[in-house]
Amino acid sequence: MDIQWYPGHMTKAKRQMTEDVKLVDLVIELLDARVPFSSRNPDIDTLAKNKARIIILNKSDLADEAQNRAWKDHFEKTGIHVLMADARKANTFRALSSIVTEACREKIERDARKGIKNRPIRAMVVGIPNVGKSTFINSYAGKAVAKTGNTPGVTKGRQWIRLGKNLELLDTPGILWPKFEDQTVGEHLALIGSVNDNILDIAELSVVLIAFLKEYYPGVLNDRYELDETKERAEILYDIGVRRGCLVRGSGISYEKAAKALLDDFRSGKLGRITLERP
Ligand code: GDP
Repeated sequence: MDIQWYPGHMTKAKRQMTEDVKLVDLVIELLDARVPFSSRNPDIDTLAKNKARIIILNKSDLADEAQNRAWKDHFEKTGIHVLMADARKANTFRALSSIVTEACREKIERDARKGIKNRPIRAMVVGIPNVGKSTFINSYAGKAVAKTGNTPGVTKGRQWIRLGKNLELLDTPGILWPKFEDQTVGEHLALIGSVNDNILDIAELSVVLIAFLKEYYPGVLNDRYELDETKERAEILYDIGVRRGCLVRGSGISYEKAAKALLDDFRSGKLGRITLERP
């Protein structure tokens, strides 16, 4: 399957982010917990070099709990602090504060040695489209004590959202692009709904999902659609179509409708909590 994706504003967004990242101490990278590998852009390691780093495994409410823990361990071994989150929930921010302090301990100690106390940590949120950046920033903004004004010269018109004494968050996220030359990455991002379905062969995509579920989450298809999972993938898709009433006039089912029903169930969590990638 050949998935072409988002060529549009890539260069501009990257240039913007290269500028913005100079203004911050801390880079908060949002990944989609269902596809932590595919939603990660390796350029971030270069872009955020010498910055304190936090990874948020966002949408962890839709991902497999055991895999959430496995990915958290995986990234922590590389020295990055990790938070599992649902960006829509208020408790995300409470949990974040203590991790920010840990991730920025070095900077805080360096400041202290220079006699600087309580200088706020400046942070920015980065991630690929649809990972939850705006949701995260908006919930943050809702809780913000104050939106700080422009500081000419330093912020170049950028707005900072201030939370308490110790943290300021840049109100515009950095947008990264995934490694879309990699076929599996394209498929996984399409499965979670990050690629416009209109440009995809969703029947083909749903067959990829069926194969994955059969192998890694046996019983899930059976539980949801009461069908025989040992059948061939295309037959399973047919059975899903029958179960979900995706009939076409005359005879048979619409594979496209069946595929859409399956993908909708997966994306909305109705198949349960599923992670498509292993560390
Ligand atoms: P952005 O493109 O990175 O700014 O992504 P958005 O903030 O626009 O979020 C994309 C979609 O994901 C929206 O429909 C959000 O409601 C949803 N979303 C964001 N965070 C979470 C989360 O942690 N869990 C779930 N289930 N949905 C989320």
